[in-house]
Amino acid sequence: MCMVNASAVDSKGASSQCAVQQVTILGATGTIGTQTLDVISQHPDRFKVFALTASTNVQSLFDLCVKHKPRYAVMLSSEAASALSDQLKKAGLATEVLQGEDALSDVASHQDVDVVMAAIVGAAGLHPAMAAARAGKRILLANKETLVMAGNLFMQAVIDGGATLLPIDSEHNAIFQVMPYQRTRVLVDIGVKRILLTASGGPFRNATIEQLSNVTRAQALNHPNWVMGPKITIDSATMMNKGLEVIEAHWLFNAASAQIEVVVHPQSVIHSMVEYNDGSVLAQLGNPDMRTPIAYGLGYPDRLASGVSSLDLLKIGRLDFCAPDQNMFPCLRLAYEALDAGGTAPAILNAANEVAVEAFLADQIGFMDIPALIESVLTASSIDAVTSIPQLVDVDANARRVARSWLKSLSRVN
Ligand code: NAD
Ligand code: MG
Repeated sequence: MCMVNASAVDSKGASSQCAVQQVTILGATGTIGTQTLDVISQHPDRFKVFALTASTNVQSLFDLCVKHKPRYAVMLSSEAASALSDQLKKAGLATEVLQGEDALSDVASHQDVDVVMAAIVGAAGLHPAMAAARAGKRILLANKETLVMAGNLFMQAVIDGGATLLPIDSEHNAIFQVMPYQRTRVLVDIGVKRILLTASGGPFRNATIEQLSNVTRAQALNHPNWVMGPKITIDSATMMNKGLEVIEAHWLFNAASAQIEVVVHPQSVIHSMVEYNDGSVLAQLGNPDMRTPIAYGLGYPDRLASGVSSLDLLKIGRLDFCAPDQNMFPCLRLAYEALDAGGTAPAILNAANEVAVEAFLADQIGFMDIPALIESVLTASSIDAVTSIPQLVDVDANARRVARSWLKSLSRVN
């Protein structure tokens, strides 16, 4: 087995001379999962797929198994697992099919696994990401909800488990690339003044409040720059995505909320910046294509080809910036407030947001009901210090209950 040098995140010196690395991809059928497989396919000499997981999409996971021949495939439900197993047997493939949430953690922490791509969407990604951290894996973290819900526990598990954590979210990957990563030190000690987290502004950057109230599902799912799964696409439209990313940056880079500034940059070419005390501002640029941060995480500290086309600055011509409007996008304000409130507040914010986005995608509520629901759940909930993962699971379930009763009361009114 190829051993990845643990705790290399701090030393920036992970071993790069490994033989073939075994990779588990959590959320393999999603946008990040499939792009990860795309990059891996370009480097058969460096990576082998150990396990692929998905919630319910049997056909997509079957197709990926045929192509990548993993040792394991995991599906959430037993029906989906047995359907996949039947199809694989008929096709003569040796992939073993596992089922259920525990199996996700098993393939994330298996002793033969070197690298785990954490690309499940939402709170469902927390347990397997924790399992990978405790088992000391190289974790490529796309699932930002893990850090939003359980930032302190997850970062501690990374340290205790001797894991290597590489951020895949494009902004955090950019920051990682331009800042010495020393999570045990405060930013001022390493000369960092502030983090400039760029945001595309989403499809409604120039809309009025009235227009926002009437936004349809199809309009909100039409992101101008990035191709992403439905939940994060809606999060981008409400700017909750940027709010979650502020909290993510807080935990990854030990940054106070006042040191994290959101800058709207519609072209999505600068993926984020770090300003130093001497006035230097370092930025990472590239086409908006997640295969760049994925390849960075897979190859680190080496640089791998990703298939991303060269940035054509002459064609782009100009880069624009403006401040976000927190009145238009209250989700951003709510996320900053949850971060400042601390404790379980971000986990409550995250759970309420997941319920709100689901309801919006099911045409049950309007676009501006999303922040209204989240604010109402936060106001109704008590905020406690975070003590354990089981406590956070309860907090998450409780916030979802409060959110669902808000939805019921709304449907009675309408
Ligand atoms: P997606 O909806 O395209 O895919 C989600 C994957 O998770 C699928 O494979 C699905 O089967 C699986 N899944 C969903 N619910 C599950 C559950 N309950 N249990 C187990 N598996 C489940 O999502 P995505 O766009 O690929 O995003 C994945 C994660 O990466 C999210 O946390 C998102 O915020 C983050 N991220 C995505 C992008 C992007 O460009 N897509 C960029 C930055 C960060
Ligand atoms: Mg991002």
